[in-house]
Amino acid sequence: MIKSKVPNIKTSVFAVMSEMAKRYGAINLSQGYPDFSVSEELIARINQKMKEGFNQYAPMEGVLSLREKLSEKTFELYHRRYNPETEITITAGGTQALHTAISTIVNEGDEVIIFEPAYDSYAPVVRLNGGHPVFIKLKFPDFSIDWDAVNKTVNSNTRLIIVNSPQNPSGKVFSEEDIARLKKVVSGTKILILSDEVYEHIIFDNKRHNSFATDAELAERSVIVYSFGKMYHATGWKLGYFLAPELLTKELRKVHQFTVYAANTPIQHAISDYIDKKEDYLNLPEFYQTKRDFFIKLIKEIGFDVNPTEGTYFQTVNFSQYTDESDFQLAERLVKKYGVAAIPMSSFYHNEENSGTLRFCFAKTNDTMEKAAEKLAMFYSDAKKQLNLF
Ligand code: PMP
Ligand code: GLN
Repeated sequence: MIKSKVPNIKTSVFAVMSEMAKRYGAINLSQGYPDFSVSEELIARINQKMKEGFNQYAPMEGVLSLREKLSEKTFELYHRRYNPETEITITAGGTQALHTAISTIVNEGDEVIIFEPAYDSYAPVVRLNGGHPVFIKLKFPDFSIDWDAVNKTVNSNTRLIIVNSPQNPSGKVFSEEDIARLKKVVSGTKILILSDEVYEHIIFDNKRHNSFATDAELAERSVIVYSFGKMYHATGWKLGYFLAPELLTKELRKVHQFTVYAANTPIQHAISDYIDKKEDYLNLPEFYQTKRDFFIKLIKEIGFDVNPTEGTYFQTVNFSQYTDESDFQLAERLVKKYGVAAIPMSSFYHNEENSGTLRFCFAKTNDTMEKAAEKLAMFYSDAKKQLNLF
């Protein structure tokens, strides 16, 4: 047997819960992926690119015309010009971009600050590279950042701070105040920032996405990660990109080239032609806000109380007053007995801390959400009976 480099890492909760949902025929609101069809026109363009012969390796750093379009998009939205030749790199999805960034930046013994609950890929990759994740808990229940804790935690070994806004799984969005505090923390240090902005277009209530590209001081020390999976309801295409200043990009590409070499060729060409249809991504806030509000309406009608998520396509719901089980046990029971799958929030904490909370994905048709709500209503009614609350 091989000696595991990552003995404490388990199979991703997304694989576990989606498999469980399939096995028990449950409605899958666990792993985050949309239920909506991809633009017919975009699919036709990809097909056309394949027929035209764009079927061999793309340039290592990505198709240039796509990088030029992304430079324009970034300038229009976030007012900074990234050089398409030297500062934009296309990846095989956001996950690979994150992996490449962490692997490039983190050396043996480096400390990396991660805010919890956190997306599940960050800490394992830090560990894989010999780094030490240092976890700072977001405050409960509003998931705001404890900046005093950050100030106390930063030291000369801190190499990287990973931020994610809108945040998976809490939906929390970075405020101007957060940006200002972070700038103070890193000012005069060599700390780099990995800003996971894959949900840039899924943000609600007229909030603006504060990209780290916008701020000159932050941009010069940040790797910023995006995903076309979120932009085009196409998580299975595994295409994304990162922005980073030239010197950093040189290092990042050294690692990127030996991770995948290059990403999918025909899809890059097709998106390059298609991306000028801005309404596809500019309409996402409105589209997903309607979904969020519909899901919340259903959940509230059952009797649950929720704080509307500020961004992402996830809504957390706290169940602790209805059960003594851990969130994982509850998630398992919901799949097996009631037929609806969600992600236990403990999966996003390194110590698997239980808050009795589950994360639901509302990137689903109204019909799917209604069916899931019927099942949750059955759980609610059983739980209330058991607790003699009627
Ligand atoms: N970061 C976050 C916060 C995510 O939720 C995801 C997955 N949806 C990713 C990165 C990875 O994106 P991709 O699917 O493009 O690998
Ligand atoms: N980002 C998605 C989620 O949070 C899933 C990504 C994955 O399956 N790795 O549910």
